[in-house]
Amino acid sequence: MNREFYIGEDGLNYCATCKEPVEVLLPQKIQTYLNMKTHPRQCACIRERNAREEQERKEREHKQTVESNTSVCFEERYMREWNFEKDNGKNPDMKFAKYYVEHWKELKRLGHGLILWGGVGSGKSYMAACIANALLEQEERVLMTNFATIINGMFSATDKIDYVNAICSFDLLIIDDLGVESHSEYRMEGLFNVIDRRVRSGKPMIITTNLTMKEMDETQDLNEARIYDRIRAVCQPVQVKGESQRRASRSQMMEKFRGFFNVERKEGSLDDRD
Ligand SMILES: [Zn+2]
Repeated sequence: MNREFYIGEDGLNYCATCKEPVEVLLPQKIQTYLNMKTHPRQCACIRERNAREEQERKEREHKQTVESNTSVCFEERYMREWNFEKDNGKNPDMKFAKYYVEHWKELKRLGHGLILWGGVGSGKSYMAACIANALLEQEERVLMTNFATIINGMFSATDKIDYVNAICSFDLLIIDDLGVESHSEYRMEGLFNVIDRRVRSGKPMIITTNLTMKEMDETQDLNEARIYDRIRAVCQPVQVKGESQRRASRSQMMEKFRGFFNVERKEGSLDDRD
């Protein structure tokens, strides 16, 4: 910073830009003791520059923290783009996701999570990823993963307890697409350990699933039942009925093609598949 100075009426040096003194006169006693008359002071220009640099440093650090937490959070890179700002507003159930983020501090303290349930392509994963991205922005540590990744990670980990602890260390754990596929007892035991440990840690989790709550509650499989029991105890079920993002864009495409080829619409056409 190139500054110019002038001597003021009081004999002190002043900054020509902000017209503030850049030194203060010391009391007589201290002058004698230190053998100096004045002491430097920061003028407004310097204070503003320092504040700006401090702000920039904080922003840089925030960005780095968010970026590093985000790269840990998602296995799929495209999920980083799933956020409230980019949402097309077509899914009214998105309000539940926003509510969760708005009340995060309290829900976190209570260890309260969500079960986002609904059909394939209803936008459950999208909602969960929006929550994840919003909380990542608040510098929370979030992990969005799925059953297969948890189990594979656990089997390849040298210390399984460490692995479970690592998963439980995140502020929010999202298990995407908890399915019905039948798994070996060993794998179900692994999943139970993670979920049970997570619940006991008092930290929240969000589950997305194609299962209905009835299917969860009435499963005859004992391994599944104890997993779902744990989840149900700490997660609020929210039915997601939103129109599939994929489906919406496909039907828009079909509409365009219909116009182009002048194809007539038939009931039960391609749009109804998923
Ligand atoms: Zn100045």
